Amino acid sequence: MNDLSPVIAADKAHVWHHLSQHKQYETIDPRVFVEGKGMRLWDATGREFLDGVSGGVWTVNVGYGRESIANAVRDQLIKLNYYAGAAGTVPGAVFAQKLIEKMPGMSRVYYSNSGSEANEKVYKMVRQIAARRHGGKKWKILFRDRDYHGTTIATLATSGQDQRAMQYGPYPDGFVRVPHCLEYRAQWDVENYGERAADAIEEVILREGPDTVGAIVLEPVTAGGGVITPPEGYWQRVQEICRKYDILLHIDEVVCGLGRTGTWFGYQNYGIEPDFVTMAKGVASGYAAISCTVTTERVFEMFKDDPSDPLGYFRDISTFGGCTAGPAAAIENMRIIEDEGLLANTLAMGDRLMDNLTSLMDRHAIIGDVRGRGLFCGAELVADRASKEPADEKKVQAVVADCLAQGVIIGATNRSIPGFNNTLCLSPALISTADDIDALTTAIDGALTRVFG
Ligand code: PMP
Repeated sequence: MNDLSPVIAADKAHVWHHLSQHKQYETIDPRVFVEGKGMRLWDATGREFLDGVSGGVWTVNVGYGRESIANAVRDQLIKLNYYAGAAGTVPGAVFAQKLIEKMPGMSRVYYSNSGSEANEKVYKMVRQIAARRHGGKKWKILFRDRDYHGTTIATLATSGQDQRAMQYGPYPDGFVRVPHCLEYRAQWDVENYGERAADAIEEVILREGPDTVGAIVLEPVTAGGGVITPPEGYWQRVQEICRKYDILLHIDEVVCGLGRTGTWFGYQNYGIEPDFVTMAKGVASGYAAISCTVTTERVFEMFKDDPSDPLGYFRDISTFGGCTAGPAAAIENMRIIEDEGLLANTLAMGDRLMDNLTSLMDRHAIIGDVRGRGLFCGAELVADRASKEPADEKKVQAVVADCLAQGVIIGATNRSIPGFNNTLCLSPALISTADDIDALTTAIDGALTRVFG
């Protein structure tokens, strides 16, 4: 490999890294990645890593180094790189059709660039529906404790992860929190926990006034809030409540779509019929920036009922929603998932990952709970299993650092929920093999022994 020390120096001098306290780089160099192939990455010092989190934030679902995606994007860019505004493009149309084929009940795809943007489009649509259909009522949007929906001011107003939103306010009005549904941290002592947790949403609706609430945004499986799989009965009840009060159901699939939980979308595990579905990370596995806001024909129709009204349509644009690289990459990404049987692999390898993590509980009392669906798993670390007191955050980060020193990248909830940044997170690519999964859990095993004894 060429000497990349000038590149590291340039990074150190000029790049402001995401989610980073830069003080640390006074004594160490930032890590700069150079190359990836399959599940493996190489940094500028030539070190190799096994990636257990698909590009840091559960994105590169089909793995690194996919030449067929690069070729599809290249061919498309030479033909037509871009057109935005009121006209479409060929890959935009083709991908929309392929996507809708995977989403019975849904009908329309609105393109933008990031998960935050896709979610904020929904908030705008809900507000416009309130203005046009409900005489300005039904303008409030509910969100759930521990969920995350993005980094813009409005999406941060719906952050159930308080540490992400602190110091960036004031926030716009009309966003109201409902309780989380993590049974391990139960808030009610009842048998039907899932239904009870959903009933808590109804309580908030009744408190706010059903005629003021237009929508609720929820992650199907909460990601950064600690990999929270919903308890039995939760989603059915949520759906009933939404129907009862005419509340639009917005499912944030930015992490779960496409394929992460072993189905195309997370909501498809739970028989949910959403009004809005948003997605970003896994849509093109990070080969190009693309996000989609998907909705039903019923919602779409609400925006075209009065052609003479100058305010009667969705007056929104996303400049880079017109890049053709995104849908061109997404078409090929979807083909790979389909042709390589990656949904089935995700289920099989997800089971293996869950089994491995669960068996680590025998040796490590520090693991309080193991949760997951498909290749999307979390292990919550607790100082004491009986009291469930969360493990020391610094030690949780030390486990991540120990794995990194072994050449294995894992994640952990970090600076998201005060007092509860104690869950190790794994989201390896959907191409994971049994050896990859075992290597991840062996690394964690060793790290837990070294950090916690
Ligand atoms: N929703 C969820 C569930 C997410 O995890 C994220 C990103 N971590 C977002 C939305 C925001 O996506 P982006 O960073 O692309 O704006």
